[in-house]
Amino acid sequence: PQLISQIAAGEVVERPASVVKELLENSLDAGAGHIRVDLECGGLRLIRIRDDGRGMGREELPLALARHATSKIASLDELERVASLGFRGEALPSIASVSDLILTSRPHDADEAFSAVGVGDDDPPPVRPASHPPGTTVEVRDLFARVPARRKFLRTEATEFRHAHQVVRRIAASRFDVAFTLRHNGKTVLELAPATAAAEREDRVARLFGQDFLAHAVALSETAAGMQLTGWIATPGFSRSRADLQYSYVNQRLIQDRLFNHAVRASYQDVLHNQRFPAYLLYLSMDPAGVDVNAHPAKAEVRFRASRQVHDFVHQSLKQALRAQGG
Ligand code: ADP
Ligand code: MG
Repeated sequence: PQLISQIAAGEVVERPASVVKELLENSLDAGAGHIRVDLECGGLRLIRIRDDGRGMGREELPLALARHATSKIASLDELERVASLGFRGEALPSIASVSDLILTSRPHDADEAFSAVGVGDDDPPPVRPASHPPGTTVEVRDLFARVPARRKFLRTEATEFRHAHQVVRRIAASRFDVAFTLRHNGKTVLELAPATAAAEREDRVARLFGQDFLAHAVALSETAAGMQLTGWIATPGFSRSRADLQYSYVNQRLIQDRLFNHAVRASYQDVLHNQRFPAYLLYLSMDPAGVDVNAHPAKAEVRFRASRQVHDFVHQSLKQALRAQGG
């Protein structure tokens, strides 16, 4: 069973950045308002994520570490309209099988915290009293130290940190209402307060992706047929240093969708007669029933039910925004 976990971990856990992604998503699913990420040595030595979310009680801790135990869906029927980011119950046991993992948590209505050590699938994890404010901390030490075959695929600390930083940026750009702190080797790299007002949101985007992106971006907010598209798309004046600044979110979930990308690119070509693939940060809100997010765990693929309609809406909205800018 430990071996099965380690093999399954290969699907979910590729490098420190994938651990950061899974843990951040869990914190968001737990309703956290502030998430702190502490990394040491690019996350290779330590990944510690602390949130102020709903927390887990003593009995829940072993379940959280058990394979295929999720508190997020209770039936196959719910899988159809899952709103949480996780729902497979695989991340924590997979990470625990390839690292030293400690889970410490306290629900808001409890006066005691408990902590559990991930020990693999065979034994129930020992649970002990701990000291912790309401919320959860997950500590992951020495990722892949026991799995040399995987360890050798890891890059330098700097590269691993860059990937993890990228994940934090992507997620911080998906939830403006949540505060994020990122520290690396004891130094604060990002400190983001909750951003609600338009100016605060812009400030977060500038801190995450640079003032230059914002200065050259067209802001948009279009609504039609029960859908809303907001965000920013850069005009050709933005000389992109970040090849990866092409983020699309559906209902606050980062997605990777060819149809969506096509709509963006087509509108850019139609209005600006430019063949480049522009930098953008776009948010689509729609009825969750119209989009299937239950694809591969590690990939961000989605399936739209009315794909033509979504494509046309994105295409038209962007054309309108780019034209209004004088494109
Ligand atoms: P999934 O997210 O797919 O449910 P995970 O292995 O990531 O599976 O987490 C297992 C369970 O542990 C979750 O369903 C949740 O109940 C609990 N859990 C994990 N992280 C947190 C957290 N930060 N706060 C509260 N509960 C958590
Ligand atoms: Mg999860």
